[in-house]
Amino acid sequence: MAKEKIKVEEKRALNKENFGKLYGIFKYLIPYKTKFVIGLVFLVLGSFLLLAFPFIAGKLIDVASGEGSWFLNDINSIALSLVVILFLQGVISFFRVYLFAQVSENAMADVRFDLYKKLLFLPITFYDRHRTGDLMSRMSSDVTLLQTTFSTTLAEVIRQIVTLVAGIIIIFVITPALSTFMIMTLPLIIIAAMIFGKKIRGLSRQSQDELANSSTIVEETLQSILAVKSFTNELFEKARYHKSLKRVVALALKTAAFRAGFISFIIFALFGGMVAILWYGALLLQRGEMTLGDLTSFAFYTAFIGGSIAGIGDLFGQVQRAIGASERILEIHDESSETEGTESQDLERFKGDLSFNEVEFQYPSRKDMPVLSGLTMHIEPGEKVAIVGKSGAGKSTIVHLLMRLYNEFNGHIKVDGQDIQSYDLSAFRKNIGIVPQEVILFGGSIRENIAYGKPNATQEEIDAAAQKAHALEFINSFPEGMDTIVGERGVKLSGGQRQRIAIARTILKDPAILILDEATSSLDAESEQQVQLALNELMKGRTTLIIAHRLATIKEVDRIYVIENGKIKESGAHKELIDNVKGTYHHLVNLQLVN
Ligand code: ADP
Repeated sequence: MAKEKIKVEEKRALNKENFGKLYGIFKYLIPYKTKFVIGLVFLVLGSFLLLAFPFIAGKLIDVASGEGSWFLNDINSIALSLVVILFLQGVISFFRVYLFAQVSENAMADVRFDLYKKLLFLPITFYDRHRTGDLMSRMSSDVTLLQTTFSTTLAEVIRQIVTLVAGIIIIFVITPALSTFMIMTLPLIIIAAMIFGKKIRGLSRQSQDELANSSTIVEETLQSILAVKSFTNELFEKARYHKSLKRVVALALKTAAFRAGFISFIIFALFGGMVAILWYGALLLQRGEMTLGDLTSFAFYTAFIGGSIAGIGDLFGQVQRAIGASERILEIHDESSETEGTESQDLERFKGDLSFNEVEFQYPSRKDMPVLSGLTMHIEPGEKVAIVGKSGAGKSTIVHLLMRLYNEFNGHIKVDGQDIQSYDLSAFRKNIGIVPQEVILFGGSIRENIAYGKPNATQEEIDAAAQKAHALEFINSFPEGMDTIVGERGVKLSGGQRQRIAIARTILKDPAILILDEATSSLDAESEQQVQLALNELMKGRTTLIIAHRLATIKEVDRIYVIENGKIKESGAHKELIDNVKGTYHHLVNLQLVN
């Protein structure tokens, strides 16, 4: 992944289309345009002020060597004006940097916020196609890259271009002969730099890739350290990492060799060029065709120009990377959201009649593999129904479709007699509650985690929900009670405790239709009993669809649907089904897929 990314990034041509992409991000600067424009003016002003410096410094030398001009002819006042220029330049730089920081910080916070909003409303199909790590890196490193681009890189590009163009014009005006001579020595250095530069860039990209590869090894093994250990593959991983590191070093050294060659060439060429220019300058000076001050100014300007040329290459590299970053961010913006995220006003409560009629479905990412092929079932309001089937039979898929996570299927799924697509998505989902197999709590207090089911719940409502979910007892056993922090950095709760918090949360949400995804791994007996009591409380008065793994649950339900090959194979109560010794259900129970 990292490998691909670096390659694609570096190839961005600086053409109109790509600048267009940067423009997509530029839009975020519009609210702060006044500050941005003032910053730009300061930037150009500062660049010109700095360019006056060598000119006046040259005059200082001229006055010292008795060649004063009509307007600058006193050493002290010239030196003073230099100090004034430096001071002004300092003040201007301060405001420029500060203004650009204000613009870029605010604009990038807007980019992040927009991106986050967008991500929240994107459909599950988007998340099937993207890895969280990749999305996180867009949120963090890509936006940070853009921030640097807008706060410093763009400013630098403009400053360097102004310095380069104005600097060249100035030296041609004050020292035409010497400048022409200098320009003629340049092509050699430029061509050499280009050739070396290309080779070095290629090599350093390769070593970056290799370094990324070796970090991936570390990342993977650390993430699955348990797997590494259980397969006793430490030695294998050690060898794999060692080999990769060796490749990193070999490539880095090859790059270093070219860089070293380049540096020594540049030193030679640069100083050689300087000797040539000095030689020619000395001749001009001796012939009286140029003053010492002009030579001094020339030297300063040349240093400025050289600095700009050296800097611009790097800066363009940064702009290219910024284009890559904008592209990746805008890509997300172009995805279509599943809802607009508006609060739906008319929240009608469903009666809870649920039907699947000849539903055919395959996941968009695996179009050739039908998961449901003509599934039909009907659940009356308030009924409790269990779905059983082998792993991979499509039980969770039924839930995904009911939640409207995937919208492209054949057949009909209806709630209260209407196709589910005809309801407003938010209102629809508010009517459905899920207690998942593996409950993940958010970092925060238990109270906040329960209130997630109804953000405006009162203290009493939260307590009542916890009570009904048989969670109050263990919550109160913590010294901080409801304020106990859970989640990654907080108290670690047992599976059963987390389940009960999820149940309390769903009781607060009070959905008409309930989906229970039973935990496959069994809880300890006491926990199981508590969870069951909590679930019984939760199921009261709701249509409940249970992805069942426990016989205890299944015996209690109104009807069992056995799913096989994407269809309902058998249905009925436990007793009826178990008596059919040739049936799938009987087989599943024997296999202890339900036990
Ligand atoms: P169950 O819940 O009964 O174990 P699932 O509904 O999870 O089964 O899966 C049914 C089939 O669909 C499986 O073959 C599974 O590999 C496939 N599947 C599940 N989720 C996805 C997905 N997001 N993309 C592609 N295939 C999937």
